Amino acid sequence: MAGNTQAKSLDPVCGMKVSTASSNLVATHKGTRYYFCAESCQTAFTKNPDKYLKPKGPLSRLLARLAKANEKAFGRTGPSCH
Ligand SMILES: [Zn+2]
Repeated sequence: MAGNTQAKSLDPVCGMKVSTASSNLVATHKGTRYYFCAESCQTAFTKNPDKYLKPKGPLSRLLARLAKANEKAFGRTGPSCH
């Protein structure tokens, strides 16, 4: 590791860390690149991306809660200026 910063990406299917430099298993979904540890993960993802992109973790839960609060306050998802 002589000054070689290896970018790691999280496999959204199994949660494994994948080196973006060595992996050629890539899928692009809504402008974001996702890397996979195996072809089976890539196939599973491309078949049903949303299944693996469900909000998870405390930050996503917080964002979901904020979105809900917005819905309550503005009667829709997110504030609107007009
Ligand atoms: Zn995987």
